[in-house]
Amino acid sequence: MTVTAEPETQVDAAPIAAAPAADAILKVSNIESYYGPIMAIRGVSLEVPRGSIVTVLGANGAGKTTILKTISGVLDPLKGTVEFDGKPIQRLDPDRIVRLGLGHVPEGREVFPFLTVRDNLMMGAYLRTDTAGIEADLERIYGYFPRLKERISQPAGHLSGGEQQMLAISRALMNRPKLLLLDEPSLGLSPLLVKEIFAIIARVNAEEGVSMLLVEQNARMALETAHHGYVLEVGRIVMADTCARLRESKDIQEFYLGARDHGERGERRWKRKKTWR
Ligand code: ATP
Repeated sequence: MTVTAEPETQVDAAPIAAAPAADAILKVSNIESYYGPIMAIRGVSLEVPRGSIVTVLGANGAGKTTILKTISGVLDPLKGTVEFDGKPIQRLDPDRIVRLGLGHVPEGREVFPFLTVRDNLMMGAYLRTDTAGIEADLERIYGYFPRLKERISQPAGHLSGGEQQMLAISRALMNRPKLLLLDEPSLGLSPLLVKEIFAIIARVNAEEGVSMLLVEQNARMALETAHHGYVLEVGRIVMADTCARLRESKDIQEFYLGARDHGERGERRWKRKKTWR
C-alpha cells in the first residue's frame, strides 16, 4: 500500500486516503455491509501490499470484525468489491475463499474444544493431501509455539486463552495461507502473552512472507507490529498511513495510545477534540 503520505501535522488535520499499492494481495474498494437494516461499514477501501502487515484500528463497534467477515465471505457486501491476489472474491462462499489461500482467525478463537490440539491443527489442513508436507508444517508450527507441542494430545478446551489463540493462529497457518486475517488476537490476554503472540505474528510474516490484515483495539501493539495502518470510526476509514507516521500522530497518541494530559485536579482529560473529521 502506498499512501498519500503527508507530514505529521497534516496527518492530524485530515483523513488520508490510501493510494493503489504496486502489488496488493488484497484490495478492498468501497464496500458497504449491513446486518439486516443496520449499515455496519460504509465506503470502506483498503489495501494490503503483498508480504506486509496492515492493521485496522478502531474502538468497540467501529466495524473492524465486519470488514474481516466481508473479506472472508462470511458476510456479503451490498456494494463494493474485494480483490484477492488479482481475483474478485466478493460474494464467493467462505470455503472457496479459503481454498484461494485466505485464512481467517476469528475473534474469540473458536477452536474445537472437544478435539485435541493435534486434531484442531489437522482441521486447518483439511484441504491438503500432502502428508509429508503436513507433518513438516506441524513441526514448523511447534517451533513457533512449543507450548502447543507439549499439549498436543489434550482437548483444546483445556488450553488457556493464550494457548487457544496460538492454536487458532496455527490452525489457519496449516492451510499455508497467502493472507491471514487476524481479528483481535490480543483480546482477553495478559500483556506478556500479547507481546509473545505479536512477536510470533511478526516472525511468521518476516520468515514466511505471509501477508496479514490485523484488526485490533490494542493500538500500541498493532502499530508496533504492522507496517501500514487504517483508523476506522463508526464504519468508515478516517485515517491511513504508515504505522511509523501514525505513531507520531497527535490524534492517534491521544485517542488510541492513551497519551495523558493532566488537568489541574490531576484527572485525565483529552487535550483537544479530534480533528480528522
Ligand atoms: P469489537 O471491537 O467490539 O469487536 P468491531 O469494531 O469489530 O467491534 P463489529 O463487530 O464489526 O465492530 O460491529 C460493527 C457494528 O455492527 C456495531 O454497531 C455492531 O453493533 C453491529 N453488529 C455487529 N454484528 C451484528 C449482528 N450480528 N447483528 C446486528 N448488528 C451487528
